Amino acid sequence: MKILVINCGSSSCKFQLFDMDTGVVLAKGNADRIGIDGKLSYKSSKGADLEKDVELPNHKVAVKLVLSQLTDPETGVISDVSEISAVGHRVLHGGKFYSESVVVNDDVKRVIRECFPLGPLHNPANLTGIEACESVLPAGTPQVAVFDTAFHMTMPPKAYTYALPYEISEKYSIRRYGFHGTSHRYVSKRAAEFLGISTEGLKMVTCHLGNGSSFAAVKDGKCVDTSMGLTPLAGICMGTRTGDIDPAIVPFIMQREGLSPEEIDTLLNKKSGVLGVSGVSSDFRDLAKAASEGNERAQLALDMFSYQGSKIVGSYAAAMGGVDVIVFTAGIGENTDTIRDAIIKPLEFMGAKIDPAKNNGTRCEAVISADDSKVKIVVIPTNEELAIAQETMALI
Ligand code: ADP
Repeated sequence: MKILVINCGSSSCKFQLFDMDTGVVLAKGNADRIGIDGKLSYKSSKGADLEKDVELPNHKVAVKLVLSQLTDPETGVISDVSEISAVGHRVLHGGKFYSESVVVNDDVKRVIRECFPLGPLHNPANLTGIEACESVLPAGTPQVAVFDTAFHMTMPPKAYTYALPYEISEKYSIRRYGFHGTSHRYVSKRAAEFLGISTEGLKMVTCHLGNGSSFAAVKDGKCVDTSMGLTPLAGICMGTRTGDIDPAIVPFIMQREGLSPEEIDTLLNKKSGVLGVSGVSSDFRDLAKAASEGNERAQLALDMFSYQGSKIVGSYAAAMGGVDVIVFTAGIGENTDTIRDAIIKPLEFMGAKIDPAKNNGTRCEAVISADDSKVKIVVIPTNEELAIAQETMALI
């Protein structure tokens, strides 16, 4: 069975075609700069590796182009689009309506549309991608929506409610939703499999540390709390995002700097985080280099990141009454042993101990805790596209 995974952004259409029988990625790429000048990048398992300028006025043309590339007689990997059994779409926001992936129908499309105000940059593009696939694939090809928010819908009200006037929260659907759900679901399940233990009764903290970073408290395989909120701005400080700050800072800066809502949004989302603190970069490799050369603000940004990370993991231990497993994933979680070490160090009091020999240099699936650590600490590379393909296959 072949499953196409589509991740449509406002000006891009990333894709991967999986052969689910063998687990092989047959082809992947990106139809990028939609509505601008148009570029297609494409790689196949047969060795094709190309980049070309193309006309991409809209997402429908982009999806058509992806399909014609996949069926290209020379560089393609399938002979006809009918070989695609289903399409799995990454969708940012499912609001409070979906705790699982769903086969797309008119109701699902209505909900994705209703959630436009909650994910204004992503949801419209996600829906456009779904509609583009419906219009160019053979009728009846199932489309599945896999929501970034879905895994977190099992949180209890005390975890997702903000202390705002209740009527205001209800009127505008303001609550904690959480993001990176596909990744948290995938790595929490995979970590239990890898360790050979059941998720029943298991208390786990999953740390997805990338450009955007989030944590999830996962009990019995279900999310009970997460660090991102109504939007992906909340939680730990990130590449360019503030993470949690005193909300009074927002009107304080707006008044003094004379900023509009759009300008303060840009400041909080794009100019803050470790980039804003260090003045160096949002990339942790650049920060590590600058810090090693004596840049104090780069060191401060790194220290803030791991300090806040330790505090979140510690707070989730309180939320669940303990922690059995801590999982690190995504760009930083999978590659940066120093950050893993710095996050875990303050948690030794609760029995979490890293083995430096296992941690240092590890970039693949591995246990990195010491033999006498009460908490198992593991690295599990995330694979959101594969997770979307698996969920799509399970549904159809
Ligand atoms: P995104 O949220 O954009 O998917 P990633 O998960 O790719 O982000 O994470 C990006 C971060 O991961 C960057 O700060 C980068 O420094 C770090 N990172 C990515 N790859 C590596 C690597 N091979 N070694 C060290 N750090 C890495």
